[in-house]
Amino acid sequence: MTSLWLDEAAPFAASRPLPARTDVAIVGGGIAGVSVALHLARAGLHAAVLERGTIGCRATGRNDGQLLLGLGEHYHRVHGQFGAERARLLWDFLRENHEALRAELAGRGIACDLQTRGGLRLAETEHEWTELREAAALLASEGKPHELVPAGALGRRLPAAAGFHGALFLPGEAIVEPVAMVRGLAATAVRSGAVVAEHAEVAAIDGEAGEFTLRLADGRRLAAALVVHCTSALARELDGSGLLARTVFPFRGQVLASAPLPDAVAAKFPPCAMSSNFCYEYFRVHRGRLLIGGKRWSVPGEEVGILDDGAQNPQVTQNLLAYVREHFPDLRGTAFPRVWTGIMAGTPDGLPLLGALPGRAGTYVLGAFNGYGLSFAFLGGRCLAEMLVEGRSTHPAVALFAPRRCTAE
Ligand SMILES: Cc1cc2nc3c(=O)[nH]c(=O)nc-3n(C[C@H](O)[C@H](O)[C@H](O)COP(=O)(O)OP(=O)(O)OC[C@H]3O[C@@H](n4cnc5c(N)ncnc54)[C@H](O)[C@@H]3O)c2cc1C
Repeated sequence: MTSLWLDEAAPFAASRPLPARTDVAIVGGGIAGVSVALHLARAGLHAAVLERGTIGCRATGRNDGQLLLGLGEHYHRVHGQFGAERARLLWDFLRENHEALRAELAGRGIACDLQTRGGLRLAETEHEWTELREAAALLASEGKPHELVPAGALGRRLPAAAGFHGALFLPGEAIVEPVAMVRGLAATAVRSGAVVAEHAEVAAIDGEAGEFTLRLADGRRLAAALVVHCTSALARELDGSGLLARTVFPFRGQVLASAPLPDAVAAKFPPCAMSSNFCYEYFRVHRGRLLIGGKRWSVPGEEVGILDDGAQNPQVTQNLLAYVREHFPDLRGTAFPRVWTGIMAGTPDGLPLLGALPGRAGTYVLGAFNGYGLSFAFLGGRCLAEMLVEGRSTHPAVALFAPRRCTAE
């Protein structure tokens, strides 16, 4: 079953035929590939996106549409994992990504139901509430906007909820309709001079920097000076450096969408990003339906290593429905007729890949967002474009994402 977003969104109408040659060939037309193309075109380079299916047809069109801070982690955990300085860089990168993306969407009039009403991180247990307070203390010490919502005050923020132990509200988070967003960005890229080709599956990449040849599955060819891999975990074999195959692993997420809720029930959910259990479960309302995902941790194997987004895991569905019954009493008995899955890409350290692929000159990657690409890729695309145009990105966070970190054994 396909996602609600892919069913609802208008087709991408600005697809252009491939030229024989381009400066930069970008493989993959999700949020990563489209963002790179847009920024390269603006900088005056000839960029061509080659997308196997339609724009946004894979993870970008199958997610929950939440623009989050902290790559989904509570802030004290980001500090714990990366240290204070890198945690601040990472948080600021994501905040800047949201600001730049919002400005782009507003500036180009891209209609994608962007709602900038923040995000609620709900505590599933008393322990998580303790952790949320730790996160809040750190955010306060760094002057980052947030608000702690004790359990007794949750009824005002999220009247539909039961059984949560409090929440952390982050005003900088947002929700969006992801397919309309990425197709709007792709149309903007085309207007800026990029070529965006759908139904253009890359089968192999031959040659070397300055003289690559991309061979398409249907026999077409494209010559390019540089290549950017934006295929998430879906075409790791195309990377001649071998780094993507060695480092990036796929995992599958699953989302359920309810039948339209009565207005009075839908109104009990605020129009914002919501999650609990350290962001493992996430939900939001879209046009009167509840969209909820997560629970992959609750099944054997945690859906890691799976590349099939044409199938679903019935046990994940059952466990998500149990979560709905537990936390949203008004929805007991509500049907969830639509279920879909999407493939995300992970790295061992949980950080994305942005930059040159070591060992294969002229090739680059933007991807492996560990489940948070909407929250990262727009600014990521700008930084990568700077690298290609200027030779380096001046953004202080990009060293965190350098693919060469994955070569140190
Ligand atoms: C269930 C779920 C919920 C999520 N929720 C959120 C969320 O709320 N917030 C958030 O920030 N992120 C979320 N994510 C993650 C987010 O969707 C991804 O991180 C992001 O969309 C990845 O974008 P991408 O462009 O790297 O990959 P994709 O969107 O997967 O794009 C890769 C593209 O490459 C194309 N491709 C593959 N092979 C080839 C080839 N050989 N030739 C040409 N093209 C090829 C594919 O067709 C595809 O379109 C979620 C993901 C899932 C699955």
